[in-house]
Amino acid sequence: MRIKVATHSGFCFGVKRAINIAEKNLADPRYKNKIYSLGAIIHNPQVVDDLSKKGLKVIKDISSAKKGAVIISSHGAPIETIEKIKAMGLKLIDASCPFVKYAHDIVKRLKREGYRVLIIGDKKHPEVKALLSLAGKGGNKAKIGVVSQTTQNKGNYIKEVLDILKEDFKEVRVFNTICNDTSRRQTLARRLLKDRDVVIVVGGRNSANTKRLWQICKESGASSFHIETPGELKKSYFRGKSRAGIVSGASTPDSMVKKVAQKIKNLTKEG
Ligand code: SF4
Repeated sequence: MRIKVATHSGFCFGVKRAINIAEKNLADPRYKNKIYSLGAIIHNPQVVDDLSKKGLKVIKDISSAKKGAVIISSHGAPIETIEKIKAMGLKLIDASCPFVKYAHDIVKRLKREGYRVLIIGDKKHPEVKALLSLAGKGGNKAKIGVVSQTTQNKGNYIKEVLDILKEDFKEVRVFNTICNDTSRRQTLARRLLKDRDVVIVVGGRNSANTKRLWQICKESGASSFHIETPGELKKSYFRGKSRAGIVSGASTPDSMVKKVAQKIKNLTKEG
C-alpha cells in the first residue's frame, strides 16, 4: 500500500497556541488543581484527556468553577459567560484563536455601524454561540453583514447566500472569515482525493473542521472513512486498493497521524 499524508497536517496554529496556554498555566503552582476549561479546550477527546491528567477540569457550566482560573477554549465564549467569569472573581485565561477573534471584531464593527448580522455556521458550536452573543438581535432593515464560522466549507459559503440576501437588503457586506488553515486543509483534501483510491480522515467527531473535511470526501464520491484513532481502522477499508491518503483535522496531533499511517501499513502488509 502506498500511503500519502496531506502535506499540511497536525495541529493548526490556534490549537497549538491553546494547548501551550493550557500547559503553561497548569504548571503554575498558583492554580494547582484550580484550572477549569469551559467545554473541551479543543475538539479532540484524546488531547483533552491528556490535559485532564495534567489537572485541567473540564466543566459544562461556569457555576461549577468555585475558585481559580477559567480557560476560554480556542473557539471563544459568549460575552455573557465572560462577564460571569469576571463577576465570580475568577481569573480569565483567554485561549481563543486569533482568527476567531478576528471574526468577533468584524461582528462588533457591523453592530456598531448598525448592520444586521448573519452568521453562517453550526448554531450549536461554541464558536457560533460566541458570535451570536456579539451579534445580538435587530439592526438596520436595509443593510446586512455576513460572516461565517472559521471552519466552514469554502464551497458552501457566499454564493447562494448572496443571491438570497440581495433581494431583501439594499446593502450586503460579506466577510470571508474562514481561517487560512481550514482553507488549506480543504484544498489539500480535494487534491488528495484525485489521486488516491481511499482516503482516511483523522480527527475528533466533535471537531467542526474535521467534519467539513469528511463532508468534502463524502461529496466527492471517493472511498473514504472518518476515524478518531488507529484502532478504528478495518482491513476491509483497503481491500482492492493500492493508494491510501490521510488528511487530518486541525486538532489532531501529528503523532496520531503517524500512528494511523503505521496501522494502515500493518493492516495491508498482512495480505
Ligand atoms: S482551525 Fe483556524 S480558527 Fe480554528 S483554531 Fe485552528 S487556526 Fe484557529
